[in-house]
Order: sequence, then structure tokens, then C-alpha cells
Amino acid sequence: MEHRSVSPHVLIFPLPIQGHVNPILKLAELLSLAGLRITFLNTDYTHHRLLRYTNILDRFRRYPGFRFQTISDGLPLDHPRTGAGLRDMMDGIKATTKPLFREMVISWCRSSDPMTCIIADGLMSFAIDVANEVGVPIISCRTLSPCCFLAYFSFAELIEAGEVPFKDDNMDRLVTRVPGMAGFLRRRDLSGFCRTRDANDRGIQFIITETQQTPRAHALILNTFEDLDGPILSQIRNHCPKIYTIGPLHAHLKSRLASETTTSQFSNSFWEEDRSCLAWLDRQPSKSVIYVSFGSITVITKEQMMEFWHGLVNSGSRFLWVIRPDSLTEKDGEFQLQAQLRKVTKERGQIVDWAPQEEVLAHPAVGGFLTHGGWNSTLESIFAGVPMICWPYFSDQQLNSRFVSHVWKMGMDMKDTCDRVTVEKMVRDVMEERRAEFTKSVDAMAKLARRSLSEGGTSYCNFDRLIGDIRLMSASHSREELASVEM
Ligand code: UDP
Repeated sequence: MEHRSVSPHVLIFPLPIQGHVNPILKLAELLSLAGLRITFLNTDYTHHRLLRYTNILDRFRRYPGFRFQTISDGLPLDHPRTGAGLRDMMDGIKATTKPLFREMVISWCRSSDPMTCIIADGLMSFAIDVANEVGVPIISCRTLSPCCFLAYFSFAELIEAGEVPFKDDNMDRLVTRVPGMAGFLRRRDLSGFCRTRDANDRGIQFIITETQQTPRAHALILNTFEDLDGPILSQIRNHCPKIYTIGPLHAHLKSRLASETTTSQFSNSFWEEDRSCLAWLDRQPSKSVIYVSFGSITVITKEQMMEFWHGLVNSGSRFLWVIRPDSLTEKDGEFQLQAQLRKVTKERGQIVDWAPQEEVLAHPAVGGFLTHGGWNSTLESIFAGVPMICWPYFSDQQLNSRFVSHVWKMGMDMKDTCDRVTVEKMVRDVMEERRAEFTKSVDAMAKLARRSLSEGGTSYCNFDRLIGDIRLMSASHSREELASVEM
């Protein structure tokens, strides 16, 4: 058993979307730094985007045990994977990636260098089936917020009790069946998947099934830190007793790399980062700019875009706005709004296709973040001490925005509206009127985040525990066991 004397070999497989690949690639680099050998499995599409817009090959060359492998998601490279295109991608993963993944894992397990364990995105529970079939330990990695993950465990009960689908239009009615959130969780704060009229809707059923599978994994990795999500985590531990909270991952990687002599860039972007916005920020006064970005999947209508634009302009604040080239809904796709806005906006605003977000949030000129409340964006904003206005789109974002405003008091929740008057008012509140109040809370949490990553902190220690546990996992699957697995 020659392979047991060398360092563990971990197969890592993220769901192929920006908000999953980004933190999981950071996790992979953290594991590489700790001396583990990594096979990182990208879909052809994500690999193509990363090769085009980042220096990942150079960056990972320094880790001799690191290699990228690719797998198909069944769609041509130019097929849209944002907005409604996301559904096609999920179908492709089920039909094409799933069987290919099984074949790949079986053949790697039969090779001279089988894997010690698999870390797979928790939204692809077929990886748990495959790992169990070949007898390789599997750790599930969920990149969403713990509050939403916990709520997902209650979805089946909500449907059974007749609370979902909602029986009327009263979106402010309290939802009582999600543990730990009974007093403040309204219908409108439940994940966007609950806004269906059909209990058998594919979206919500997919979420229920995938969530129920997670406890079958050996353990769970969450991108958070104990001080942020303590009460929620103790509820999740009722379902998944072994959890490694090792976030915020983006900052964790930076802090572990800080002791190294490296100038490595951290971008894992699927779009070209427009770094000129950093020079523009350099010319703006301290805390004067609101950064606006709705992440990698959100699409909006041109009416919504115009409301945001008027609201931002009327607020009197300076702004840096990310408008991805594929930001508009299909029906509005041809509209040449971006170019027009860019021209008119020059005075006090800057519009870019894609920004180096972590650097933007850390820039002294940035005083607020108008965000869709994706979990990565939320953590990045918290770590940078930047108050938020959340305008959630789907998935965990409806819950995140409730937690940002009501539980953590780090900003405001603008869900379900974006009329120009509201945008203007909230931008003024976050940038001026209520700045001190929000900054105080977010700064205090940023401090706790930093503490969790320093030596002896919870995320720091949990990461070391994860490494120790992976080293202990024996590649116990025997050749006979594998021989009985049919290809
Ligand atoms: N991001 C970026 N530049 C941008 C917009 C987003 O680098 O202009 C990054 C951001 O830092 C975050 C990720 O893309 O890490 C988006 O993930 P999130 O969970 O916030 O939202 P999603 O895209 O999954 O909806």
C-alpha cells in the first residue's frame, strides 16, 4: 500500500457556478498549503472561464501535488448558465456529469494513486452515492449561509403543514416552523424556492432532496465562523454532528498565505476583472462610494435597472456598479442600456462589467455595499467592515438579507422592491444617516472574524482539525471491494 506513506490525496468537486467554485478553490489552496495532494474537478465550462480570466495554472503550479481535471456538464461552452440558463446546467449535470463522475471515481480508485477522501459540493449528492459505493470517505461542502441551510431542513415539514406554497399574499406572516427563527422569519424571508405555487415544483423538491442527503456524508464543511452563526450551527449539528466551520474562506486563505513569501493574486473570476475601478476609487474621498453588485447569476429587467440608476443618482452618493454583460433578463437582453448609463454616469459613478470585489470592498473609499446578499458577498462585506443594503434575488439570499438587517443589524433589507425612492432613501441611510449604527455592528463582527482566523481562533483550529482528520482517514477501500463495483 505504497500510497499510504505519501500525503493524502483529496478529490474536490464544486458545483460549477462562480459562487461555489470561488470559495471551494480557496479551500483547495488551503489544503494544498497544508501539504495535501489535490485533484480539483472543474467542468469544461468553468475550467475554460478560469483559464481565460485568471492565472490559476501559475498560481497552483507551486503546489506539486495539485492537478486540475475536467468533466462535461453536457452543454456547449457558449450556452448561458446564468438566470434561467442555470436550470439547463443543473439538468446537464444530472444527465451527463453524474454518470461520468462515477466512472472517473471508480477508475481513479483503481489507479496506483487512489484518493483518501472526496470533498464534494453538497448540491451534488450523487457524489455521496459514488463515494459510498467505492468506500471512500466523503465530506460535504456547502457554500450557502448556515441560516438558509438550516431552513432547508424544514421545507418538507412546511409543505406537509400546508405553509408552503403560501395560501395567500400576506408575505409578512410569520413562519414558525424553522427552529431558532420563529419570532422574526416572515414568508418573504424564506428562500426564493418557497415562492412556488406547486409543492412538487422541481426547484424546491431538489433542495429538499439534496439537503436530506447531506447527513449521509462523513462530515460537513461550512463557510462561516462560530461567532457569526453560533446558535444556527448548534441547530444544524442536530442533523450533521460533525461540522468544520472554517470561514470566511477568502480571508482564511489570505491569512495563511500571509506567512508565506508570495505575491499570488487570488482571483477565481469567470469574467475579466476591470481593475481600472481601483484607480477610480483611489481618487474618491474616504467612505464616499457605494459599491453595487448582484453577483454572478442575478438577472434584472431594464425597468429595475433604471430604478436602481435613478435611486443611486438621486441619493447624491458616488457609486461603483457592476453590470455583467449578461445582466439583463432574456426579454431585455438586446437593450443597450449599459452603454448609455456608462456615458451619463461618468461624473459620480463608475460602471464595470466585473470588479475585483474583495479588493473593492477593502478599499478605504467604499462606505457601503448594495448587494444581492449572496453568501460570499455577505461574508466579504462583513470581513471588510462594510455595511450592506440587500436586494435578494434567489436561493439563500432572502434569508441572508433578513439576518443582515434584523439579526446582525449590519445594514438594510430592500427585498421585493427596488423603486427609485426606496433605493435613494436606503443609500442615504447606509451612507449617511445610519452609518455609525451599522458600521459599529459590522466592525465588531469583522473583528470577531479576524480573531477566528488567528492562531487559536475557531476557524483556524477547525481547519487544523480537518487536516488532521483527513490524514487519519485511511484509504480503506480494498481492491476486492472495487473489483466488485460494476462500471
Ligand atoms: N464577484 C467578483 N466581482 C464582481 C462580482 C462578484 O469577484 O464584480 C465575486 C464575489 O467576490 C463573490 C462571488 O463573485 O465571491 C459571488 O458569490 P455570491 O455568493 O456573493 O453570489 P452568487 O454569484 O453565487 O449569486
